[in-house]
Amino acid sequence: MGSKRVYSICAMCTGRCPIVVDVEDNEVEHIWGNPYLLGGYNLCPRGAAGKTLLNDSERPKTPLIRDGERGSGKWRSVSWDEALDYVADNLKKVIDNYGAKSVVLSDRGGAITEFEKAFIAAIGSPNYFNHHATCSNSIHNAHLSVAGLARNGVTYDYKNAKYLVSFGRNLLESLVTGEAKNVIDMIENGGKLVQVDVRWNYTAAKADRFFMINPGTDYALALALIHVIIRDSLYDVDFVQRWTVGFDELSNFVKPYTPEFAEKETGISAADIVKLAHDVGNAKPSVIFHLGWMTAWYSNDFYLRRAICSLNALLGTYEAKGGLIINKGPGSLGKPLKSLLSQIPKSNEPRFDGCGTKYPHLSGQWGLAQELASVLLTDEPYPVRAYIAFRHDPLASLPDPDYIRSAYKKLDLLVSIDINFSETGWFSDVILPEDTYLERTDHVIARNGSKPGYILRQAAVQRRFDTRPRSWIFKELANRLGVGQYFPYNNIEELIAWQLDGTGYSLEDFNEKGYIDLVDKPIMWDRVDGLKFKTPSGKIEFISKKLEDVGVPSFIPYEKPIELKPGRFRLVTSKCALHTQGRTTSNNKLLNEYVSENHIYIHEDRANELGIKEGDLLEVENEGEKQHIKSKLTKYIHPDVAFMLHGFGDDVPLRTRSYGRGASDIRLQKGLAKVAIGGNCPYTECTVSIKKIK
Ligand code: SF4
Repeated sequence: MGSKRVYSICAMCTGRCPIVVDVEDNEVEHIWGNPYLLGGYNLCPRGAAGKTLLNDSERPKTPLIRDGERGSGKWRSVSWDEALDYVADNLKKVIDNYGAKSVVLSDRGGAITEFEKAFIAAIGSPNYFNHHATCSNSIHNAHLSVAGLARNGVTYDYKNAKYLVSFGRNLLESLVTGEAKNVIDMIENGGKLVQVDVRWNYTAAKADRFFMINPGTDYALALALIHVIIRDSLYDVDFVQRWTVGFDELSNFVKPYTPEFAEKETGISAADIVKLAHDVGNAKPSVIFHLGWMTAWYSNDFYLRRAICSLNALLGTYEAKGGLIINKGPGSLGKPLKSLLSQIPKSNEPRFDGCGTKYPHLSGQWGLAQELASVLLTDEPYPVRAYIAFRHDPLASLPDPDYIRSAYKKLDLLVSIDINFSETGWFSDVILPEDTYLERTDHVIARNGSKPGYILRQAAVQRRFDTRPRSWIFKELANRLGVGQYFPYNNIEELIAWQLDGTGYSLEDFNEKGYIDLVDKPIMWDRVDGLKFKTPSGKIEFISKKLEDVGVPSFIPYEKPIELKPGRFRLVTSKCALHTQGRTTSNNKLLNEYVSENHIYIHEDRANELGIKEGDLLEVENEGEKQHIKSKLTKYIHPDVAFMLHGFGDDVPLRTRSYGRGASDIRLQKGLAKVAIGGNCPYTECTVSIKKIK
């Protein structure tokens, strides 16, 4: 078979980094970064470890139908025809009895979502949602309300930034390869990094200033920074006058939030807050207040994110060199990709999760994964009876999985389409195993940014097991349900040709570098007349008409975080460079060798009080849920905080490397599968007690 080099897109996390795969005789020799786009061959460890996924015997290797109680792990290996017929027949029954809207589908979100979105729309259901309730809902919805753009509606111009301020985004550890590299370049170019966090981490280690903030008080800090920036006339007057509405209301609102007030709340001195405001004011507009990545923290997170968006707007960072560049897509150059979804009539039914109705300010683009459990248990607003979890594992990511699992018991049909035995898959009726990203070609996706173009994930090797690509799985299901006309292709090459029709490009154009640039130079819109904010006013809205029209205030007063009872800790979780995607990487053979379990980090002084030493086995408890985990002691964590990596405490016995290793954070997060005002689960409102058991 010989050797070849294939340009593609990584799928070991949602970063979707461009990669080059070196293949020898149908085996992956090495996975590199695409040097044309990443400026080098480096990749994060997860990306490089993708090669072990391919031949992993602990993947589902054939379609499986449950042959025992849900969750019993008893499966029957079946043919694709039998599995697809089973799913289609049961979907038909649900649709006949309860209507198409009683079928819901979720995925991980991101850019490569065309097939699943098209499928759920084709059968007439409005109920697509994704994992963002446990990730970025609050920032997506906040940025929509302020700038009319989702979080990914902008790209950070790190390399030219003079100041980067991050509220808890651990850029160099929970990393996306290109972003981390750009931040390092920024530091080497003399840009300043300021990290605000409750613990010292790798990003803090590289920062010029690190502020250890009292947990849950970030909103007070953001409001005080706005206060000083306005009070001391540090804002970009021209930008604010031209591109914002509600400046006077914002000025009045932040008057009480003085640096002295914020010092008492945050533990950061008033002098430091004033200095930071002046530093970013002097560096404007080449400043980035990072909007956040995983922002499912507190109930008020929506307003923290609105405040961070407002800081960027006050400093005029939008479309400024070294600031936030508004993304442009191929459509802005008259070369849009054809889309399956756009050919399908939209359902007029209300959504199951209340986006647009019960929660009028929240967008259905991301939906509310946490609402499915209560909808199942109450049949309100209507019954949901079938759920397709596509590469999404809510039982490993939503808080309180036993509660979620008990609700899923009400489903007539639960289908998992995945490359792994996910926790949700383990509880499903059917598992449809997908080809890994190294074995499949997906649809072309738009590269949105200052240099719009297209990029493609391409199969590097032939499939190992009896798996199939998503393009085929959803088309086959659509055919069986009588809506195959919305999937007008016989193979992926035909679909790609259809997508690119009218653009002047073809599949072969991806061979040279894996992507197509539509312009040579970055497109920057004119900051006087050319900016396009997709709000009703076309401007940045400190006062949001859309919010106010549905009774949601543009500002809310700062409130102290919920009281911490004596002896307890606030449980904070995060990711590391080897495991950012929870259970999708924890059983990876290579990554598991390096980090096979999580530990709980607590401050040395608190450990002394509790008689805990390094490496002791601890019992961590909340509302009767007990998890066992080994201790790590440090001076570099807020004394109120206990920290652990997310994604451990695996419940699926077939994943022998990660099964039972470490503790599950989500099991401790009792009662938090609820909807905060930004649509996020307020994960960080979990408190725990800790004691030594050995
Ligand atoms: S950050 Fe790492 S795992 Fe994520 S897409 Fe990029 S290379 Fe892959």
